[in-house]
Amino acid sequence: MNTDNPLLDFSDLPRFDLVQPEHVKPAIESLLTAGRELIERLTAETTPATWRDFAGALADGLEPFGRAWGIVGHLHSVNDVPAWREAYNQMLPEVSRFYAELGQNLKLFEKYKALRGSSEYATLTREQQKVVANEIRDFRLSGAELPEDQKPRFQAISEELSQLSAKFSENLLDATNAFAEIVTDEAQLAGLPDDAKQAARNAAEKAGVDGWRFSLQAPSYGPVMQYAENRELRARMYRAYATRAAEFHDGSSKPEWDNTPVIQHMLELRQEEAKMLGFGSFAEVSLAPKMADTPAQVLAFLRELAAKAKPFAERDVAELCAFASDELGIADFAPWDAAYASEKLLQKRYAFSEQEVKQYFTEPRVLGGLFKVIESLFKFKVRPDDAPVWHEDVRFYRLETPAGDLVGQFYLDLYARETKRGGAWMDEARARRRTVGGIQKPIAYLNCNFARPVGARDGKPLPATFTHDEVITLFHETGHGLHHLLTRGEELGVSGIHGVEWDAVELPSQFMENYCWEWTVLQGMTAHVDSGAPLPRELFDKMLAAKNFQSGMMAVRQIEFSLFDMLLHSEFDPQGRSTVMDLLDEVRREVAVLIPPEWHRFPNSFSHIFGGGYGAGYFSYKWAEVLSADAYAAFEEAGDPFDPTVGQRFLDEILSVGGSRPAIESFKAFRGREPSVDALLRHSGMIAA
Ligand SMILES: [Zn+2]
Repeated sequence: MNTDNPLLDFSDLPRFDLVQPEHVKPAIESLLTAGRELIERLTAETTPATWRDFAGALADGLEPFGRAWGIVGHLHSVNDVPAWREAYNQMLPEVSRFYAELGQNLKLFEKYKALRGSSEYATLTREQQKVVANEIRDFRLSGAELPEDQKPRFQAISEELSQLSAKFSENLLDATNAFAEIVTDEAQLAGLPDDAKQAARNAAEKAGVDGWRFSLQAPSYGPVMQYAENRELRARMYRAYATRAAEFHDGSSKPEWDNTPVIQHMLELRQEEAKMLGFGSFAEVSLAPKMADTPAQVLAFLRELAAKAKPFAERDVAELCAFASDELGIADFAPWDAAYASEKLLQKRYAFSEQEVKQYFTEPRVLGGLFKVIESLFKFKVRPDDAPVWHEDVRFYRLETPAGDLVGQFYLDLYARETKRGGAWMDEARARRRTVGGIQKPIAYLNCNFARPVGARDGKPLPATFTHDEVITLFHETGHGLHHLLTRGEELGVSGIHGVEWDAVELPSQFMENYCWEWTVLQGMTAHVDSGAPLPRELFDKMLAAKNFQSGMMAVRQIEFSLFDMLLHSEFDPQGRSTVMDLLDEVRREVAVLIPPEWHRFPNSFSHIFGGGYGAGYFSYKWAEVLSADAYAAFEEAGDPFDPTVGQRFLDEILSVGGSRPAIESFKAFRGREPSVDALLRHSGMIAA
């Protein structure tokens, strides 16, 4: 290989000091060629179906490609200048084609099955066996095992489903964009914050109309529902929002954007696909690679949670309606009053200034606090380290054992830039695994989009300050990072977060968020930017109260969506007499506390399950919350958020095992029992008094 190309230098850390966009094409092309040659060789009849000659050789052989393409993808995300965007997009179709070939290569499937059936299989490590099992499962789910005469139909269904999914999203987007509410009398906008008004003013100018223009996009719609005193305005916008991509053709919507037939057809095709694969329902297909076992288990989980949350949700609603009636003069409470009245109630009860809180979370304190949490919990030290980086703001650290041995390393890129994609995320630069040269240590990227430090005092620059939400985000991503870095995995396919079921992968990240709510941790992690004083208790109590504001109402809403999704893909018969809306009405009667009007068409805009990958998977949000809350409760029961025995067990049974065994086994090994919903209810303030 051409070693002049820094993308092909795999000796240690990525060469961010040398890599240029022009290196991408030659490097990726040569790695893809090498990858195809390798697959050709490994699938030859003369290649024995052993771990060493086949499965291990395949993982080892493709690892350099994964790392090089990972660097390109990372730079595309954090340094999205035209040259890098072009270099990335130029190779993306080639790379996608390579992965598609890999997933459809039946010779690979045959080799994995031969290995699974060989006498060697019993002698493989637990990790190696899991890698083989996962590969076989994924090939099966993509139809590799179907009789030849059924494959064309299966392929046609898959393609049609992706088209329908795209159509669903397009219809929703077109319907969302077609609506505009123009207001010409400023008095009608009372209550709206200035920035929301200004944005509407700009939108009107852009559209060439007088006054203020509001749309159904979140940044425009949200503030109207939350702040506008004009009830008719809220009601009109609410109805437009709730009937997007539905059968009503009043005003802006069009018949061809109706998602009702799209949903119907998707449900039929998903059911047919499931039957072909030998499953009872699409929900069973969806659950096959997840932690949850059966639709019945998920339904029981959601119903248990609903039964416990509903009394609190009812209390929330009663309180809201009473407040709306007594203090806002709204006697006939309607759904379009909910966000507005809630905002007023929140302000009245628990008002505190986000800006005030932010003054306490200075960057050096926050990072120091985070690293101290890691050290107290797991005994690993975080130390500054050196590496070539892609921007001068980026920092690099190493994790060490108490004896000073290297565990892993990570980059920290905290600040927002114009060339960086939004949000926060963890990604890997390199995974832990065994190589011929020994153990390769893992490396992670932690990326956030916080405001950089501004201003100076007495000639000294002021530190950056973070909102509490940003601090939580940082802890969350660090949780993913620790899952990646603290693994003891030796096989790429199940090392760190590789191979972890996606309804379990948020456990370590959400677990870490809990430390942002520990009073003792916050004491050490805060210092007012002017006075240096730690966060006052009174302010913390208000933050806690606001955190649990309307938690019952919010919980039953998420449960309503999850239950609807799971029933729709398990018990509902798309060919039957009752409709999707009938099912939703039934679910609402069971769990909801705020019943929307009869014309509300929630399914027609439920993108997660029809336009995204969450079909029969929406429950994962609540599922992961339950797991992380219950894991944290083990520390609460020990009476110490840093209890050393529990910390060691969390490391041994959850973090370090990664995807090498089913997540439920890891959880039970840590907790000594099945997950329980009680801790989540308690953390959300939902405990029976
Ligand atoms: Zn996450």
